[in-house]
Amino acid sequence: MLSEFFSLIYPSTCLNCNETLISAENFICTACKTDLPETQDHKNPENELFQKFAYNSIVKSACAFLYFNDGGIAQKLIHNLKYEGLHEIGDYLGELFGNTISDQLDPDIVIPVPIHKKKLRKRGYNQSLGFAKGLASCFERAEVREDLIFRTKNTQTQTRKNKLSRWINVDNIYSDTREDLDGKTVVIVDDVITTGATVGMLCDKLKEANANEIHVLCIARR
Ligand SMILES: [Zn+2]
Repeated sequence: MLSEFFSLIYPSTCLNCNETLISAENFICTACKTDLPETQDHKNPENELFQKFAYNSIVKSACAFLYFNDGGIAQKLIHNLKYEGLHEIGDYLGELFGNTISDQLDPDIVIPVPIHKKKLRKRGYNQSLGFAKGLASCFERAEVREDLIFRTKNTQTQTRKNKLSRWINVDNIYSDTREDLDGKTVVIVDDVITTGATVGMLCDKLKEANANEIHVLCIARR
């Protein structure tokens, strides 16, 4: 269903190699889709991404769909997703990844990492929402919730800061949740995870709200 819908809106060329797309292809051609740099994190519970959250016992798993390499396909896709208005790339990748991992997870709630309202106004959408929706469509009963928790601080872009100040910078950037998450299994969804610091803060807030367990999924990791 989704793929037919996308091909109606985006008939053009592969975002990675510029080959003309045929009707069954979306955003990238079949060759580039086959070559997607998948991490296979879901087959390795102790993967590098999970190690970033292992200190927090509420985080039960963490998986990235792709490796993020400079100039690579994941970077091109995420650039288009975040800065060129092609937010449907998120839905597309979410469904691809969801089909791979849906037998491993059965969450109650899927939360796209909240972005500050100023950023939301500027971009027009949360770049993690589509990925969250695509994933949720593959789970049994998951509900995507954008209204549970908010980003209250619009901190400076983290990539410009050194490792230490990143950790200081992200202190208390989220609101409390608007509901108790009593015993719920939550999936947190992000676009790119580098240090994991902001997602870690979000995990702490969900823990305070009595979530039972958290799983972290992202489009790509560095
Ligand atoms: Zn291609």
